[in-house]
Amino acid sequence: MERGKCRDLDPAIFFPNDGIGVQVAQRICADCPVKSPCLEYALANRVDHGVWGGTSERERRRILRQRRLSRVHLSSN
Ligand code: SF4
Repeated sequence: MERGKCRDLDPAIFFPNDGIGVQVAQRICADCPVKSPCLEYALANRVDHGVWGGTSERERRRILRQRRLSRVHLSSN
């Protein structure tokens, strides 16, 4: 978080109420140097709210679903 682009910004930017707000936050995250670890943190901790690692809540749910499916697929082979 110390190295995140959001460190000096209003945290409210990353907890938007609409799609436009999500896009604003995602633009900031886009070239953040800690984008990947930020996303992994949110996924590992099941963070439901806000934009983390450049992903919206819906996108993180999708990533988790896809990872679950690939684990099931791998374990069945
Ligand atoms: S990816 Fe976005 S939310 Fe995560 S540290 Fe960087 S700017 Fe902050």
